[in-house]
Amino acid sequence: MKPLFILLTVFFNHAAIAQELIVLGTLQDGGSPHMNCERTCCAHPKENEFVASLAVADSSLSIIIDATPDFVIQTNYLRKQFGHNNLAIFLTHAHVGHYSGLIHLGREAANTQKVPVYAMRRMINFLLNNGPWNQLIELDNIEPRSIQESLPITLGNGVIMEPILVPHRDEYSETVGYYIKGQSKTALYIPDIDKWSAWDQNILSIIPTVDYAFIDGTFYEGGEVPRPMSEVPHPFISESIQLLQHLTIEDRNKVYFIHLNHSNPTRNKTFEGRKSIEASGFRFAEFGQRFTL
Ligand SMILES: [Zn+2]
Ligand SMILES: [Zn+2]
Ligand SMILES: [Zn+2]
Repeated sequence: MKPLFILLTVFFNHAAIAQELIVLGTLQDGGSPHMNCERTCCAHPKENEFVASLAVADSSLSIIIDATPDFVIQTNYLRKQFGHNNLAIFLTHAHVGHYSGLIHLGREAANTQKVPVYAMRRMINFLLNNGPWNQLIELDNIEPRSIQESLPITLGNGVIMEPILVPHRDEYSETVGYYIKGQSKTALYIPDIDKWSAWDQNILSIIPTVDYAFIDGTFYEGGEVPRPMSEVPHPFISESIQLLQHLTIEDRNKVYFIHLNHSNPTRNKTFEGRKSIEASGFRFAEFGQRFTL
């Protein structure tokens, strides 16, 4: 082989195993079809719509944020793409869409060995003190590892994960989002937060400091579901774009709405409201999207 060809081969092989951020799911905890939903939003379930999750993967490790009810499909997808089963799991909080997929690691299923599960202190205590989760720990299927706010953790492959506390209905655990730092870029992931105004940090000043921002897009607007929406507070997408329109177009392009409720009309790409949000520079996360980190 000629030297240039060898050089290019080495370069492209290296490029092929570079770390990538991958969108594994985009829906709110209950997914779609959603139990007892007879509306059009769940009448024709789409392919490749799973509960919200992101991963950072390369040829040695897949770091997956949250273990969703679609965890099997999502981790099988990672294995096919990256050729291994090496997982590190980071949990955001103890709502069912974000940790219940851990059941698949247990003796009745994959029976894994010491898969590291990183979580905040209350979340770890919840796993330690409640079945069936504590059995996963007793049988060494998972190995809980405690993390702290603003204390970055560096994984074996160099990816840095930093939890960031957010206000949310914290019945069983605190709730965090994550900064995900790769070789050259940083992503922010906040799938659940009550309202931007309830936070002691300013999302407007954070977005310019990151390269990608995957943020809570649960509901499009008030009145979307037939229940008091104050019971399940989230920043409506309509509110978020009001707030974030003050960003430059370059910064608006970094914003991807994720964690969409089954009822959210912006799931439909032909919905006029979605088209105008996209025309303003904002985007929507989709399964299989890949980003360099
Ligand atoms: Zn959620
Ligand atoms: Zn529905
Ligand atoms: Zn939640």
